[in-house]
Amino acid sequence: MNINEICKEIPKVELHFHLTGAIPIPAFWKLVQKYDNYETIQSIDDLEKKFQYRDFIHFLQVWRWKNQFIREYDDFEFVAKEVSLDLQKQNITYVEAFVSASDFINNFQLELPEIYYSIRKGLNSVSGTKVNIIGDLVRNYGPEEGNKQLEEIKELKHLGVLGIGIGGSEREYPPEIFRKVYEKARKYGLKTTAHAGEVVGPENIWSAIKSLKVDRIGHATSIIQDVELIKFVKDHEIPLELCPGSNVKTGSIRNIGDHPIKTLFDQGLLISVNTDDPHMFQTTMEEEFMTLYSQFGFNIQEIYDISKRAIASSWTQDAEKEVLLSKLNNFAQNISENLNQSSKI
Ligand SMILES: [Zn+2]
Repeated sequence: MNINEICKEIPKVELHFHLTGAIPIPAFWKLVQKYDNYETIQSIDDLEKKFQYRDFIHFLQVWRWKNQFIREYDDFEFVAKEVSLDLQKQNITYVEAFVSASDFINNFQLELPEIYYSIRKGLNSVSGTKVNIIGDLVRNYGPEEGNKQLEEIKELKHLGVLGIGIGGSEREYPPEIFRKVYEKARKYGLKTTAHAGEVVGPENIWSAIKSLKVDRIGHATSIIQDVELIKFVKDHEIPLELCPGSNVKTGSIRNIGDHPIKTLFDQGLLISVNTDDPHMFQTTMEEEFMTLYSQFGFNIQEIYDISKRAIASSWTQDAEKEVLLSKLNNFAQNISENLNQSSKI
């Protein structure tokens, strides 16, 4: 098996993954057609062109533009099913997926619990990939709206909701303004993460740690500017959800070579590699793994190792982590037996 095949076949785990940023393009095209908006998008090609970004602000604009094509509860069920099928095909065995409901509640008068129920229905219609949910409070709606959503989210744990997070503009809506919301989430037994240090310096990562007491941090690329912060995150074993492909596509880092993933890996931090919004960034987990290999010099053992760190960073039960780990170990063992076999010939 060559490296491409290994990256394709390896059982994968994703911890930083937005459900509505992961809609396969043909499925999204169906939604565009359903709502008959042909002003700027007349073909799948146009759609792919639309998903190119000048910078992070532009990406957030396109993100919101895209949300106009998901208007009904049935659309969420459809999206969840299509995303699950896509995950299954790629041998992604476990995902913690953000659900960012705010735009849909606000624009189409949908109810948060119904959105979550529809998503769960769609996810359950496909086997092979277990998907748990993280409620993204979407920081641009502010802490009051976040608090309102939290009260509804806490009643939905039976749908596989494990925690909350905040995506959106971290510059205008820094972590600390959500302090009380996060405090309450912890009391409700929910895990917490926050996008921080993606387009703002290490001060936002410190704030996510100190004010929000997060269990994990999304992106965190600017950690590399602060040696003390790296030490703190390592000593306290705070997992980082890294998304190198996303960071290049949004322009939050200029070149892939500037990404700190290898440095953080070598220093022993609990990191994972993730796609963030795979179909909006035209990436896959397979490609992210290939990038680790070709751009950063990760060897196969190190790719197994980063996969193990992802499992360790997940919020699922220990029994499930054991299952994920044994799938990974079995895969690694088969590969090494095959390699031994072929070297004997
Ligand atoms: Zn994200």
